[in-house]
Amino acid sequence: MPTVISKQKKIRTRKIRIDSNIILSEPSPFVTRSVLTNSLSQVFDEARQEWSLSDVIDSTSEGFSDNCELCNTPHLSANFVIHNPLTERSLRVGSRCIIRFGVVKGSVDAASGSLILNNFISERNNLIELRTLLSSVMIFRPHAQDLHDFHNALKKVLDIKGIKEPALEQLGEICYEDRWSEVKNDRLIPHRLMPLWKNPGSIDAIRSKRIPKDEVFVEGKTLGYKKRKSSAYGVGAGRSNIYKVERHVERKDSGIKD
Ligand SMILES: [Zn+2]
Repeated sequence: MPTVISKQKKIRTRKIRIDSNIILSEPSPFVTRSVLTNSLSQVFDEARQEWSLSDVIDSTSEGFSDNCELCNTPHLSANFVIHNPLTERSLRVGSRCIIRFGVVKGSVDAASGSLILNNFISERNNLIELRTLLSSVMIFRPHAQDLHDFHNALKKVLDIKGIKEPALEQLGEICYEDRWSEVKNDRLIPHRLMPLWKNPGSIDAIRSKRIPKDEVFVEGKTLGYKKRKSSAYGVGAGRSNIYKVERHVERKDSGIKD
């Protein structure tokens, strides 16, 4: 299970398109053998339903296979990694093979096969977006735009999963995967998750423009205001409050311009 996925990779996998004009066909002996040697059942129609999608990777990713491990077709542009939990085997295959031979659970015809693949790509991209935004919405006072983007990504993931009213545990696992058991005792995170989904507008947020990076505090500088005479404003002045982010934020929000 990938835990860290870079933004760069996210953009690449967005380009994967599933051919919707694929016709189902009888598997060749090579395909049948590939499936059966890695499945529990030795009946092809049962064995092919033991598999599920676990990842999609492009040719720049580590572990990419140029050839489809089901049919041996070369020059794949993307690998769908399929996993069989009964045998703990994984195969890197092309999208066409999954659809043509119905090799993943729930793929019974071309329409259901391509829907499963498209949903998988969409869910994965939205999950990457959601997890990229997670740290920005889990702060004391997030930006309204981040809340909005996060909510949209979460909604898409839940739609694909068919979850209408997620429980806190479900939200936690979607957002944090294996780390959920760790972070569920955090002071902020578990209390923020449900409002993020149900009512992001109730979260106190910054609605102004984002604070440019160069306004981040540096010790010894003023709070981003016009430089004052250094003699009147010593390094130590206001030290007790200088790193309180919420103080800074309130000032930004109150419309005071630098
Ligand atoms: Zn293939």
